[in-house]
Amino acid sequence: MKKFTVINEGFTCENCGEINPKAEKTCRNHCRKCLYSKHVDLKYPGDRMSQCLGTMTPVFVELDKKKGWMITHKCVECGEEKRNKAGSDDNLDLLSSMIFEQNKKTYEHSRGQKIGEKHL
Ligand SMILES: [Zn+2]
Ligand SMILES: [Zn+2]
Repeated sequence: MKKFTVINEGFTCENCGEINPKAEKTCRNHCRKCLYSKHVDLKYPGDRMSQCLGTMTPVFVELDKKKGWMITHKCVECGEEKRNKAGSDDNLDLLSSMIFEQNKKTYEHSRGQKIGEKHL
C-alpha cells in the first residue's frame, strides 16, 4: 500500500469567507457553505501536491449508493474535474438546489433529444 501525507486542517474559504473548521472523520476539501474547492491535490485527496491552486467550482451533484453524496468540482484554471464526498455539515440547501437545477435540465433535455452526455 502506498502511503502519502494527508493534510486535514481547517481553512477560510477564499470565495465566501466562511471559516471551515477541521473535519472530524473526513478530509475536508471544499467549503461547507458555498461548496467551492481549491485545486490543491494532485493525485490523492489531501496530498496537496498540485501547483495549480485554481478555484474549483461545484458543477455536479449525485448520490452514490456506497459513498453518499458526491460533488464534482471543476477547476476554473485548468479544467480538471474531481469527485469529492460531501461533508456531513455541507450546505444542504445549496446541494438540493443544485440537484433541482440538474433534474430540471435533464427533464428539459430529455424532451428535446436523447441524452448523450455521461458524467463521471
Ligand atoms: Zn465558501
Ligand atoms: Zn487546476
